[in-house]
Amino acid sequence: LLGADGELRQTIFGEMSALAASTGAINLGQGFPDEEGPIEVLDAARQAIRDGANQYPPALGMPVLREAIAAHQQRFYGLRVDPDSQVLVTAGATEALAATILALTEEGDEVLTLEPFYDAYGAMIAFGKATHVTVPLRAPHFLPDHEDLRAAVTDRTRLILINSPHNPTGSVLPRETLELIIELAYDHDAIIVTDEVYEHLTFEVEHTPISSLPGGFDRTVTISSGGKTFSTTGWKIGWIIAPQPILQAILAVKQYLTYVNGAPFQPAIAVGLGLPDEFFSGVASTLQHKCEILSAGLTSAGFTVSTPQAGYFVIADAAALGVTDAAEFCRSLPSLAGVAAVPVSAFVHPDRRGGFETLLRFAFCKKIDVLERAAAQLAELR
Ligand code: PMP
Ligand code: GLN
Repeated sequence: LLGADGELRQTIFGEMSALAASTGAINLGQGFPDEEGPIEVLDAARQAIRDGANQYPPALGMPVLREAIAAHQQRFYGLRVDPDSQVLVTAGATEALAATILALTEEGDEVLTLEPFYDAYGAMIAFGKATHVTVPLRAPHFLPDHEDLRAAVTDRTRLILINSPHNPTGSVLPRETLELIIELAYDHDAIIVTDEVYEHLTFEVEHTPISSLPGGFDRTVTISSGGKTFSTTGWKIGWIIAPQPILQAILAVKQYLTYVNGAPFQPAIAVGLGLPDEFFSGVASTLQHKCEILSAGLTSAGFTVSTPQAGYFVIADAAALGVTDAAEFCRSLPSLAGVAAVPVSAFVHPDRRGGFETLLRFAFCKKIDVLERAAAQLAELR
């Protein structure tokens, strides 16, 4: 996290987006869509501003959004959630994660993540002075080994922080792994934190929230966000679903982070959560098609591509192109091919880069013609 000068380093997304901008390269580094989401959602925000939703919303979030979140859990997962005591609206999944980690850990507590992990996890665990323990996800499927999980969870483990569907690898944890995580959480008195921001972006597999499995809800903090599903990453409307005592502890921290946020966007995301099923399946099938276009381009350019099951990203191994250090390669890729990506090593603890050094992450949440152009430019690498 810290540079040689002791200052916090810029995130990999900031670094690679700046490089893409300065070189005019197609930015497949940072994961944000380049097309607008559903017009109903955008119009609802415009209307909410006109209607005067411009002051602080309630501390837990606007009732209309909390009710929509509860109704969404019931509709998609058959879960009964009390919108008045078990739902908290946050400034994106990012604040939800920060408040959860800060509220539930003390110095020295262990937080387990699956590696590679979304880069903010490492920073937040460090801010809370907790100890970061990881279990590796290995190519080509990027799933954890059950023996590794059993060995890593101990009585020192306070949080088991999972992310399914996963950024950066696009893997989705199978039910048996989720069941094992619940068992381990009970055996070692740990709390499960699950980051499900890509919950609606699955391709051939179903997303199963860990809180919907037997015993899951009582020990789980579920985090999601409207950014990916509704292509509104700049709105930063996220949420937490948890049993009331845990939610109260998280709220106690959250009130001093942002207090509240995004008043006119809250009712708009509520509209989004109520859209018909076809909207949700359409988002996933469009993304899967985009994934296939970019993956084909990367394959013909000489990369070895892992097929993601969900999300915005595809992992491409550049070893066959003679690359030994993907971080270095990502710094030259904008000038070599006019395309920016991020190295998977940015999602890995510096001491454990082995096995990930030649991997790059490319975002496919972009217009089809942009992906086709990127694929054509990458083909020149050969
Ligand atoms: N978790 C994961 C795995 C993510 O990929 C992202 C954003 N890309 C976030 C959390 C942050 O979500 P938000 O923008 O809602 O804060
Ligand atoms: N979550 C996005 C990604 O993985 C980026 C978010 C950010 O820039 N911090 O690309």
